Amino acid sequence: MTHNRNFDGFIPAFLLNRWARLNPTNLSLLATLAKTQALALDSQTTLPAALRFAVLAAGQGDRRIFDCMESTRLPGTRARHEGDGEYAAFPLVNDAYEFHGDVRRFLTEVCKRNSLDNKGMDLIGSVNYDRGYNNAYFNQRQMVYGNGDQVIFARFIIRSIVGHEMFHGVTHNTSGLEYQGQSGALNESFSDVGGVLVDQFIGNIKASKADWLVGPGLFMPSVNGKALRSMIDPGSAYDDDKLGKDPQPDHMDRIFTGWEDNGGVHINSGIVNKAFALFAIAMDGYAFERPFAIWYAANCGEDRVGANATFQDFADKTMVHCAKIAPRQKNNLKDAWQQVGITVAA
Ligand SMILES: [Zn+2]
Repeated sequence: MTHNRNFDGFIPAFLLNRWARLNPTNLSLLATLAKTQALALDSQTTLPAALRFAVLAAGQGDRRIFDCMESTRLPGTRARHEGDGEYAAFPLVNDAYEFHGDVRRFLTEVCKRNSLDNKGMDLIGSVNYDRGYNNAYFNQRQMVYGNGDQVIFARFIIRSIVGHEMFHGVTHNTSGLEYQGQSGALNESFSDVGGVLVDQFIGNIKASKADWLVGPGLFMPSVNGKALRSMIDPGSAYDDDKLGKDPQPDHMDRIFTGWEDNGGVHINSGIVNKAFALFAIAMDGYAFERPFAIWYAANCGEDRVGANATFQDFADKTMVHCAKIAPRQKNNLKDAWQQVGITVAA
């Protein structure tokens, strides 16, 4: 049985369930869960006429942003497509347009890749989806962005969230890491790495100066939380009565072994995230240069891991590519893996 990630948006189902129990009067959390599942089912059956050309034609990663105007009909009405001027009706359309462009620039210049599928698929997004929809979602065809309930969630059009979701498209088209257990956590971690590095690339931020946060600005100011995840300090992103505490472990000694979240794909990703952040900081430069080149080769290159890779398989593969891309950094990479409890041969 294969496990796909269709039923999860940026906020995974297990967190929406947990948070719905902690906030029984906030109905937007369960409504978001139901709507994310409905979106997933729709995407498997129907292709809206407005997207038929955009999805099927080979292209150059053109941006096509639509406005749902608080409805749930996709893709919504045309808001700002490639080359259009600013869109006045809903200002977040312009942010979505800009962030889709930032991810495209990262894919082109850093990954040497023509959009998510390497065939130039359009980068389509629908903003202003529904009322109080607490998620951002990618269905292999387009992005969908809610505006959040404005109680817990402030906004979903955030660059690292756009990048995270789109990098699921890259993994889908390369290693195809199975969305379950350790391979699923590797899939999640690679999306966190990609999303955060789009921020560092666009901001020209060195690894040692970066905040390593996935989704900063996601929560309302009244929530005690910085982001959905912290790559450098997993488990520290939030701690609030409305959310509980960030459940991510930062070491193999504390790896989650339950069934929840497809076996902890959004939980155990913290272990791999931390190894990447530690390695990039130890190299003391830009994480989107050689550290990411190693990760990208291990997940997307010709000599990449299989779809059922374990953390150990992935760590071993990064060592193979480190030997070619940055041979003098092998001890730094070995140390980074060791600090999260994974032993590799130098
Ligand atoms: Zn994800």
